[in-house]
Amino acid sequence: MTTTFPATNYDFTTFTPARNLIGGEWRDPSSSHAKQEVINPRFGKAMSTVAMSGADDVDAAVRAGSAAFAGWRDWPIRERAQVLYRLRELLIRNIDELSWLISHENGKVFGEAKAEVEKGIECVDYGCSLPNLAAGNQLEVSRGVACEVVYEPLGVVAGITPFNFPLMVPLWMLPQALVGGNAFILKPSERVPLSSLRLADMLAEAGLPKGVFGVVQGGREVVEAICDHPRIMAVGFVGSTKVARAVYARTSSHGRRALCLGGAKNHLVVVPDADVELTSENVTASFTGCAGQRCMAASVLLAVGKVDHILDRVKERAAKITPGKDLGPVTTDAALKRITGYIDDAERRGAKVVLDGRGAKASGGDGGYWVGPTIIDHCTLDMPAATEEIFGPVLSVVRVESLEKALEIENANPYGNASSVYTSSGDVARRVIGRVEAGMCGVNIGVPVPREPFGFGGWNDSCFGHGNITGWDGYRFWTRQRKITSKWAQQKDQTWMS
Ligand code: NAD
Repeated sequence: MTTTFPATNYDFTTFTPARNLIGGEWRDPSSSHAKQEVINPRFGKAMSTVAMSGADDVDAAVRAGSAAFAGWRDWPIRERAQVLYRLRELLIRNIDELSWLISHENGKVFGEAKAEVEKGIECVDYGCSLPNLAAGNQLEVSRGVACEVVYEPLGVVAGITPFNFPLMVPLWMLPQALVGGNAFILKPSERVPLSSLRLADMLAEAGLPKGVFGVVQGGREVVEAICDHPRIMAVGFVGSTKVARAVYARTSSHGRRALCLGGAKNHLVVVPDADVELTSENVTASFTGCAGQRCMAASVLLAVGKVDHILDRVKERAAKITPGKDLGPVTTDAALKRITGYIDDAERRGAKVVLDGRGAKASGGDGGYWVGPTIIDHCTLDMPAATEEIFGPVLSVVRVESLEKALEIENANPYGNASSVYTSSGDVARRVIGRVEAGMCGVNIGVPVPREPFGFGGWNDSCFGHGNITGWDGYRFWTRQRKITSKWAQQKDQTWMS
């Protein structure tokens, strides 16, 4: 059991080192691998360390998972779901502690961290409901012959997660994988490994048998060992497109299943009849929330025709956001430099920085990686700020004359995570939503995350593999279907049953 995280405010607080959970025991990596610092981005200062593990640790977790799987798979699904009911209670009871831990390791402000835990709880709710949904199907297909479909676990499976949602993204995968009867190995981002410690404690307290959940801390070496391990039967990945593509290719080259969600460049189409207050509030929240470090964040605003009255209001609202209080830092010094690099470059190429977050400071956050809300107007498509994922609180505005042009730009982008349209016309909304190349679409909503039970997942370069990672698709991903066809001779004689 790890100690609880004591912070109740943003004051710098250290936490226990992040180690591996193998067979229910916390362990250091088996051979001497390097340790890496876990930096609190608000201060740019190490609050803990993380064990950078290797292939032998992945193998140990798989062996422990396989041993535990043998018993876990035989638990009736209702009993497996009971563990999630108890986990749900623990998440609710400890929501403030978890939110402060997320805020410290990731940087997002407390309210955003709490929203993350709440969304994670919603995913657990879905897992709790699976015994009512996963009944399978049965049909008498001809006289005396019945076909039946049942969902069975795969065995040991693994999830690899990014830095921006240390608790929620693991909870996109865990509920379906565990209720489905698998043993699950989590490889958290080495930048935010600490939430996984408390999640593991809570799963143990909820009654999950030892070894069913394992954690292997580390980076690329661990990821590649997961892709290559012959007894890891499925890999869920969430992170950047470059790594998602590589993990998908590597895992599927071994004939095993993978679902890998990648990066994004989300476009918002704003037309002149959009409601000014609703649109400006929504757009601002979308590009600044979690310091723009959300795969669903607004990144490019396609301003169709005369929408200056709306853009002015977005700028007014965004200018009122205070770094440190309403907005957290970005994840690393390298991210800060990358983000400000995009802004400098667009400016050099002729765009107008109408709201400038470069050089932002936050009171009490000395040494942190701060960039304030930034709006770059009159971006053109030769500017990387208009076409590449920035992953910071930056909105690139591209002016276009027509809806057709807006759609052309949106659809030329290789990503396909999210897209939104702001309008009061049903016709415009339908035309945009019916044609954009994006898996998750919003009408007057800047962060169109499908709430449970609808599955989360994008298209094109934002998702490699088939389907969504949450909802029913998630359950199908972490299970396999057995099809049973039965026919019995009619009983004529007396048997031992009579
Ligand atoms: P990342 O790709 O750098 O890291 C994700 C995971 O991959 C981490 O666990 C990391 O340890 C591992 N990793 C990093 N480099 C690797 C390599 N070369 N080989 C093997 N493994 C490697 O992503 P990140 O910076 O942690 O997260 C931000 C990215 O994730 C953004 O691109 C964002 O859009 C994306 N994201 C996507 C979604 C989605 O649902 N599509 C959700 C959240 C984040």
